Amino acid sequence: MSKFVRFCRNCNENSNNESSLRGKGYSIYLPEDKYICEICGEELIDLSMLSLDYDILTNISNDLRFIESMIELSERNPIEYQLKMSQFKINSSSKQENNTPKCPHCNSTNIKPISGLNRGASIAMWGIFSKKINKSFECINCKYTW
Ligand SMILES: [Zn+2]
Ligand SMILES: [Zn+2]
Repeated sequence: MSKFVRFCRNCNENSNNESSLRGKGYSIYLPEDKYICEICGEELIDLSMLSLDYDILTNISNDLRFIESMIELSERNPIEYQLKMSQFKINSSSKQENNTPKCPHCNSTNIKPISGLNRGASIAMWGIFSKKINKSFECINCKYTW
């Protein structure tokens, strides 16, 4: 299967179907030797973007402008492109872990358990009226505790 996204310039220029990525001339996972467009019969070219990356991106958004700006970036600035892709890969893999505790206030996963020592210290400092009693997590992002 093709390692890179294959692109039909003819379909891209002539398609009015803005909502369909496939209709705009992008194909992935084609047979290695397939360089002829199924739709118009013109020659396909390999883009710098991996089929795998394209898959990840279309899972995030089907917005044509988003995909095309990433394709443009992969051609123009491969280093920045790789950086962005690695962030998307982290995001898409962390999405699958639904058990990660999250801040109920800002949805950040950047949280820490409030240790017994900290609780003790806060009770000692603020007395029995401390708001931290009975709470066990603190959000590092927005400082919310619950
Ligand atoms: Zn075509
Ligand atoms: Zn928060």
